[in-house]
Amino acid sequence: MEPAGTWYVHDEKRPQPKVVTPGAAFSQGAPAPSDAEVLFDGHGLAKWEGVKTPEPSWPTQDDYVSSTRAGGIRTKGKWEDFQLHVEWAAPNPPSGTSQSRGNSGILINNMYEIQVLDSYQSETYPDGQASAVYGQSPPLVNACKPPGEWQSYDILFESPRWNNKGELVKKAIVTVLHNGLVTQNHYELVGCTDGINPSVVPYRSASKYSAPHDSKMFIQLQDHNNPVRFRNIWIRPMHLGENL
Ligand code: MG
Repeated sequence: MEPAGTWYVHDEKRPQPKVVTPGAAFSQGAPAPSDAEVLFDGHGLAKWEGVKTPEPSWPTQDDYVSSTRAGGIRTKGKWEDFQLHVEWAAPNPPSGTSQSRGNSGILINNMYEIQVLDSYQSETYPDGQASAVYGQSPPLVNACKPPGEWQSYDILFESPRWNNKGELVKKAIVTVLHNGLVTQNHYELVGCTDGINPSVVPYRSASKYSAPHDSKMFIQLQDHNNPVRFRNIWIRPMHLGENL
C-alpha cells in the first residue's frame, strides 16, 4: 500500500518490503526481441560512451561489463517511452553493507534512478534498496537474488513532458519487474532522484523536476565504486498512443 506520505526520504522506519524468492529465471540470458535495439550483448560497447571520458572505460569479459571507479557509462542513443531490459549481478563474495553493498543504478537521463543494490539478506533504507525509485518509492517486494547470480530488470518508462510554456504536463511514470516480479507499478515520479533532501517530510516534497528537458533520454549505468556486472541490455520504444 502506498504510504501516507509521512516518511522522510531514506526513512529507516519505513516498512521493509516483503522478501519473495523469484521463480525460475525470467527471461535472463534470453535473446532480445526482434524489434529491440541491442545495447550490449557482450560484443563491445559501441553503443556507449563514458560519462567522464569519450570512450567507456568499463572492462568487458565474457558476456558482461563491470562497473569501475572510472565513472559511469551511458548510451549514445536516446529514447522516450521505452521498455528496457538489463541483467546485473552483485559482487560475490559480497562486501560492504547497506548502500555500499553492490551499489550501481540505472540512471535514466542521469536524473531518474532505478537502484541497483545487493539487497539479498542485506538491509538498507527501503527507498534505497534494489529496484527502488531512489529516495521515493521502495519496491513492492524484495525480489533480490544472492550475490553473483544474474538478475533482471524490465523497466517500462514513460518520459516526463513539458508544454511550450515550460510547464510540466506529464510526470515520468515507471513500472519495474525485478526477476519477473512487479516491484514498481506505474509509479509516478515526484521529480528527479538526485539532489534530494533526506530531512524533508513528507518525502514527496523533497524531490523536484529539473528545468524542461527533451523527452528522449539516455540510459546511464552508475559507477558507485562497487564492481557490479551487467549483461544482455536491450531497449525498445513503446510508441504510446500510436495504435489507438
Ligand atoms: Mg545507486
